Amino acid sequence: MPFSALGLVDDLARAVAAQGYTLPTPIQAQTIPVILAGRDLLAAAQTGTGKTAAFTLPLLQRLQERRETRPSPGRPRALVLTPTRELAAQIAESVRVYGHHLAPRTALLVGGVSMKPQLDALRRPVDVLVATPGRLLDHLSQRTVSLANVEILVLDEADRMLDLGFLPAIRRLLALLPKQRQTLLFSATFAEPIRQLAGDFLNDPAVIDVAPRNATADRVEQQVHPVDQDRKAALLGRLLNAGERDATLVFTRTKHGADRLSRLLERDGIRTAALHGNKSQSARTRALDDFKQGRIQVLVATDIAARGLDIVQLPRVVNYELPHVPEDYVHRIGRTGRAGRAGLAVSLVSADEMPRLHAIQRLLGRKLPSTVVEGFAPSGAPRAPAPLAPAAPGTRRHTHRANPPAGPAPSASARRPARSETGPGDASRRRHHHQTRRVATPGDLA
Ligand code: AMP
Repeated sequence: MPFSALGLVDDLARAVAAQGYTLPTPIQAQTIPVILAGRDLLAAAQTGTGKTAAFTLPLLQRLQERRETRPSPGRPRALVLTPTRELAAQIAESVRVYGHHLAPRTALLVGGVSMKPQLDALRRPVDVLVATPGRLLDHLSQRTVSLANVEILVLDEADRMLDLGFLPAIRRLLALLPKQRQTLLFSATFAEPIRQLAGDFLNDPAVIDVAPRNATADRVEQQVHPVDQDRKAALLGRLLNAGERDATLVFTRTKHGADRLSRLLERDGIRTAALHGNKSQSARTRALDDFKQGRIQVLVATDIAARGLDIVQLPRVVNYELPHVPEDYVHRIGRTGRAGRAGLAVSLVSADEMPRLHAIQRLLGRKLPSTVVEGFAPSGAPRAPAPLAPAAPGTRRHTHRANPPAGPAPSASARRPARSETGPGDASRRRHHHQTRRVATPGDLA
């Protein structure tokens, strides 16, 4: 069934064709007619299913059809709420791409960046506002934006927003929206808190579920390797030199650290570039291009520089240093495991970073599997007891217990909804808890 058979106007069908899409994905085939008909929607679909186009295309058409409502400065007609800055930037870009012939006015409000450009954007008419909940609330408290004209609300990755503790923020935002509106809720699962949210805020929604039954919310395998700070570069070099030498995005906390690590890796014969705020735009573009084309294997980046990077299907991410802000960990690992592919996120964690690791585990609500790479046991780590009998050939011993159990801290659990469901998130959590520990080999990263 072609896109035009779904009822999309020619301007949108042409924009889609320009992207090389020939057929709608299952979620697009099912949701587009429903949204065009003006119904509320509860849809289960993960990133990688084509869900951004599934709501963006009909949303743009609905706005176009009802164009008599002129957009006013700072008063968007459609609001897309999404959990992370990175997703927000991707959605804003999709609105631009799919809306190429309709030219919707788009604004992007995300945290961690200067308010100034956002304030400038809000002084102009806005059709589509894409935002993360925290920064949107900041703007609302300063009265720089109003939600009084919102006709269509999209809650994207609603389950992740709840996991990240955004439920109170979402409820506050929803109270500021007009009652008369169309609401579209996308989530990877229909766990109980999502059903509750839908029950409270959707009006007789169409329910569409194209997520595979065994889908887990996280397609990213996460690993922690405890290691001494001064051995991290050597460990990273060893991991990168092993196996298939996949493209790897490495995160450092500082620009200086990114430069230094990049030089060390180059010295090790690994083709590398650093990406951070002190680089000129042309150097950044070149580094990114080299990385995308496979001319370099490793991109070493700071959090700020990596935000909004458009790299699809990145096989692995390495946290050379853990971020100060636990939420940044979620952003970082979200760069791998895209488009339905499995991804790998590896964190090299020194003793001084343990509090940061614990904060991340509290945010995730689970403990990450931790393994020591042979030859890189941290100096403070307890040695494995001498075997009573010689170990069988090939038997490996676990030598280090890195993390204490990670129960949700009171603050985190207060922010998170009670999780009584037995959805895929819980299943994956159980899996991680029961993960057998073993000593890793460099091949684990390949
Ligand atoms: P999303 O689930 O929205 O993150 O989309 C995942 C990827 O699928 C993106 O790179 C889109 O560009 C791509 N995509 C979306 N719709 C289609 C389609 N109908 N045909 C081919 N690719 C698509």
